[in-house]
Amino acid sequence: MALIALTILSGRRGSGAMATLVMKFGGSSVGTAAALKQVLDTVANERGNWDHVLVVVSALDGVTDMLFEVAQLARIANQRGYRRIAANLRSRHLAIIDQLPLGRPDRNTLQAEIDRLLSDVLDQCRSIAINLNDELAPASSDAVVATGERLSARIVEALLRQHEIRCAAVDGTDIMVTDDVYGNAHPDLALTRQRVHETLLPMLQSDMIPVVTGFIGATPAGETTTLGRGGTDYTASALSALLGADELWIWTGVDGMMSADPHELADARVIARLSYDEAADLAYFGARLLHSRMIAPLAERKLPIRIKNIAAPEGMGTLVHTGTGDGAPSLKAVTSIHGLSLRRPAGGSLAGVTRLVGNTLFKTLGMRTEVMIASQSATSSFICLVIPTSIGIDGVDRLQRALIAKMAEYPEKMPWKVGTVALVTAIGSKLHRAPMLQAQVLECLRDIEILGLALGASNCSFTVAVPANEARSALRRIHKLIVKSD
Ligand code: ASP
Ligand code: MG
Repeated sequence: MALIALTILSGRRGSGAMATLVMKFGGSSVGTAAALKQVLDTVANERGNWDHVLVVVSALDGVTDMLFEVAQLARIANQRGYRRIAANLRSRHLAIIDQLPLGRPDRNTLQAEIDRLLSDVLDQCRSIAINLNDELAPASSDAVVATGERLSARIVEALLRQHEIRCAAVDGTDIMVTDDVYGNAHPDLALTRQRVHETLLPMLQSDMIPVVTGFIGATPAGETTTLGRGGTDYTASALSALLGADELWIWTGVDGMMSADPHELADARVIARLSYDEAADLAYFGARLLHSRMIAPLAERKLPIRIKNIAAPEGMGTLVHTGTGDGAPSLKAVTSIHGLSLRRPAGGSLAGVTRLVGNTLFKTLGMRTEVMIASQSATSSFICLVIPTSIGIDGVDRLQRALIAKMAEYPEKMPWKVGTVALVTAIGSKLHRAPMLQAQVLECLRDIEILGLALGASNCSFTVAVPANEARSALRRIHKLIVKSD
């Protein structure tokens, strides 16, 4: 059944041109032996349907978080702590390869590789611990966390090889050339294109499947960087664009992009089709399934993206493509994200504080701010910032503390009060032409305090800022509207 559905979906052969498929396997699709066997079946099937297939993998789910912890424990020289987690990582990976259909020599080689990579981590930890510092240098942290993808790429490579699929694990540091914003690096597409041409194209042309580590890259000088949490999507989309691929398939642990976070709302449903703008806004405003920065290079080339569940490959999943925003405006999804709010009891220019916030965010987290909602009147000003999901769990907290400290340096100029808010966003096309939909959203929030409002610039999102403790209730009510509307 799975075979037939996937073959129909692709159907690219026979068009004359060489067709290329890029498949990204996320943490949950490589996180268990059962999922990995599904990866094997999927690659084995698709290689018959396309001229070229390229695979991009994430670390096994949970592994990147554990590696971040390893680096933090090394910073405080807690040798027992980081060794314990490294040992857990080792047993997790070894337990998985034990359950995979691998021959004994392959299993032994793989085990030696896993041991080597984890022993490198311990070396890195020792050098972090020796240079005792208050803050963990992002470059050191990147070097440690990059190991997760290296481990999973080796496993996928061994599994495919054992089944006579010609492939090779490729380290993202050899392909993705990035700036030196450690922890949230941006690829330099011109330099990366060169590497793609030198390294990946020859492999594809000789019928090899490159198994590329997602999430990681290197500066031109060769220092390892990472592209921000969830960055494997970014690797997959950059490579799809640079290779001129025909489709990008994102394999994940859920059935597609959902109308709400299924962990929060049990009645969340798969969205069959989304425009690029809708998908980008959905990712930007909190859906972690896609990396918001990945959409633009694909939209430019009109490259279709399919998001599919590795555990249920026969499902249609979500298709992101052009022409999907046609038809009457409707709400498709609702999402929420953390934000910081700044309020002061005075009017006047916002430029100074915006710059200060921008610089603080860049210094604290290595990323640029996104001012989301700003409003002013004669006697007060209000600004709301989106905190990208890619900064991780403690990012909001760190930024809030850094901002409060910074503002305390200029008490007379900066009587701004910093707080947290939730930004709850309804997604759908052409919302500027649908004031009734906006009205329905506001109507259903009738007794919740609304701190700010904005229609997104692409007209695909309508955001309300509400007190953080009202986020769930707002989410649930807007989702009811979405479910009712079709
Ligand atoms: N492993 C990385 C993370 O957990 C990258 C990814 O999964 O996309 O953020
Ligand atoms: Mg991920």
